[in-house]
Amino acid sequence: MAPLAPKPRPGVLDIEAYVPGESHVAGGLPPVKLSSNETPLGPSPKAVAAFTAAGAALERYPDGQATALRQAIARRFGLKPDRIVCGAGSDELISLIAHAYLGPGDEGLFTEHGFLLYRIVVLAAGATPVVAPETNYRTDVDAILKRVTPRTRIVFLANPNNPTGTYLGIDEVRRLRAGLPGDVLLLLDAAYAEYVRRNDYEAGLELVATTENTVMTRTFSKIFGLAGLRIGWAYCPSAIADALNRIRGPFNLSAPSIAAGAAAMDDWAHIEASVRHNDEWLPWLTGEIEKLGLSVTPSVANFILVHFPPSAGRDAAACDAFLKARGIIVRRVAGYGLPGALRITIGTEAENRKVVDALKAFVGARA
Ligand SMILES: *Cc1c(COP(=O)(O)O)cnc(C)c1O
Repeated sequence: MAPLAPKPRPGVLDIEAYVPGESHVAGGLPPVKLSSNETPLGPSPKAVAAFTAAGAALERYPDGQATALRQAIARRFGLKPDRIVCGAGSDELISLIAHAYLGPGDEGLFTEHGFLLYRIVVLAAGATPVVAPETNYRTDVDAILKRVTPRTRIVFLANPNNPTGTYLGIDEVRRLRAGLPGDVLLLLDAAYAEYVRRNDYEAGLELVATTENTVMTRTFSKIFGLAGLRIGWAYCPSAIADALNRIRGPFNLSAPSIAAGAAAMDDWAHIEASVRHNDEWLPWLTGEIEKLGLSVTPSVANFILVHFPPSAGRDAAACDAFLKARGIIVRRVAGYGLPGALRITIGTEAENRKVVDALKAFVGARA
């Protein structure tokens, strides 16, 4: 008789584990890493100082309410601290929301090229993923609404979306909310909100404040430059904050994370410098790559999606290998249903010039 062994719940083994952007190349030189949408400017020096200071009392449990961090966020955005829930990255919050609101028989809806984590958390909760097609790499509100069924419990929307870099204007987000049944939770994942410079964009604060069924998640991993610490936050209706606070780990943020996050939130000049950097280099990189005859999906975030022809030797996989051989790491996005594209993060000026030069060489060598 075969020995008994524990079996995970149905759905768990259907999950393909998330593959992070690569960070090493052969040869040992430090790579140009443009694969995970991290900021080239690094964190605020004030956040680093707060992190270091927190190292003096590591024997103490952290504040389980992350009070200093929630207050700093509330001050910055004019919010009620008791409706903010913090997590170990917004990943944890997205996962907690799925576990609180999805179970077997329920459906979690997201878009064709939506963030990969959504499928993972839906399956992990034992629920069924449902995918709505996009139109030209953009979220299609009607396509989402068409796929809503009585089993739909959550609609996940990254706005702007990763890896496409496209966004949905506030009128379309409102139309989506209005078209969803009241008991369907709309999760607005605004990981790149700070980068967006469009008058018709709103990250979700307004909808969270005016509805009982919308949650916005934000992260310290991108423009705040604290990806290594794992800090995210969700702005929620009170009843949803209450549910998340019941199921989260009682000390889900470390003391250094709470201290560094609060200090980063209070240093908005640093964020503004990052926005200015992106405002300069996002259009530059887009334009230079388009000049090479490659198409780029217009992005409002800190990365771009570059499309390659399907022909052998000139395709996305060949370009990825070519760049890697030159110490440049970008992101393949075949797992997002985009085998013909690469996602490239906006880097420092030197990194941006280096990636354009390498792409020039790639296109020239293959012409
Ligand atoms: C990077 C990213 C996040 C952030 O995840 P963290 O867990 O906060 O690091 C969330 N959503 C999207 C769409 C992202 O690209």
